[in-house]
Amino acid sequence: MIPYLPLLQINARYMDEIEEAVGTTLASGSYLRGRQTARFEEAYARYTGTTQCVACGNGLDALTLIFKAYMELGLLSSGDEVIVPANTYIASILALSANNLKPVLVEPDARTLQIDGSLIESAVTPRTRAILIVHLYGRCAYTAAIGAICKRHHLLLVEDNAQAHGCTFQGRRTGSIGHAAAHSFYPTKNLGALGDAGAVTTNNGELAEVVRALGNYGSSEKYVFPYKGINSRMDEVQAAVLNVKLQYLDSDNLRRREIADYYYRNIRNEAVSLPADASADCVYHIFPILCPYRDALQRHLADLGIGTAIHYPIPPHKQGAYKEWHNRNLPVTELIHQQELSIPCHPALTDDEAAHIVQAINSFRP
Ligand SMILES: *Cc1c(COP(=O)(O)O)cnc(C)c1O
Repeated sequence: MIPYLPLLQINARYMDEIEEAVGTTLASGSYLRGRQTARFEEAYARYTGTTQCVACGNGLDALTLIFKAYMELGLLSSGDEVIVPANTYIASILALSANNLKPVLVEPDARTLQIDGSLIESAVTPRTRAILIVHLYGRCAYTAAIGAICKRHHLLLVEDNAQAHGCTFQGRRTGSIGHAAAHSFYPTKNLGALGDAGAVTTNNGELAEVVRALGNYGSSEKYVFPYKGINSRMDEVQAAVLNVKLQYLDSDNLRRREIADYYYRNIRNEAVSLPADASADCVYHIFPILCPYRDALQRHLADLGIGTAIHYPIPPHKQGAYKEWHNRNLPVTELIHQQELSIPCHPALTDDEAAHIVQAINSFRP
């Protein structure tokens, strides 16, 4: 049996170091806002290539805090429009709704599965204030064209980097490209904790300060509350685990890329198509394949002992949470949601397992 994502196997490779880090944290008597979190913030800012990193409770909070901070700073106000890819995970969109911002859905490019840069400009209106790009599946969504649109229309550029830790664009890490970026360290992500954790990175010290305050009840100093904040902290245990795993993020990503390259070279089936090869920049959080007979292919692989997943079965505009969008026509998004199948692609996958997966896909007949 080849599971889709065996978290224990992935973490077991670093078991001794993780146990030691957890033990050290337990023995330190400091469980929140301590040295492990401070160390992680510094290390992750350096890793990403930003001056600021603010740890928080999870990826959704990281996104929500960024937009909330921009509202406190007067750069965004209630009702402003934010452009976002229509095929993203719902958290990206929830962060906008939570701040009374209006998500404007833009279709992805069917070849890259990322927001289609050529459709962004026609979605810009006088109320547009920001673009939230999402580096879906570990692939960079940023392009020079998107940067130019932001400049031309004076838009904020925010990155949802939950799926792309370590991904690069022309040598710059995602998370350092826009004005601010949100990261999730949910256990399944490329850099995954043993529970919830998240962070905001930016080069804007003022923004980082407001994000930090907002995540701590809106407190700028002890018992002083300039904002109506929330409680969103990273615990010391999670920070300690992330401090261990951050050291291995690049080698883990390299292994993901090796597996992806192998898939690109060897998957050959007329019923299956792969997104355009993203080459060296991509960190393959997910390896998506597209098949018009997706459910039959998923059953075929299950029969051969291979676990798969779907990212995602129902697009945001068809969810009960967003009834107002139910009659929107977003054919590329819907096609992806009907045809996408994620196959195992993680740093603990062996060569033999990858070979078995390729054989199984190539033997599929609809
Ligand atoms: C996982 C994820 C999030 C949310 O992260 P949590 O830590 O689970 O809150 C946001 N956006 C994307 C694209 C994600 O994949």
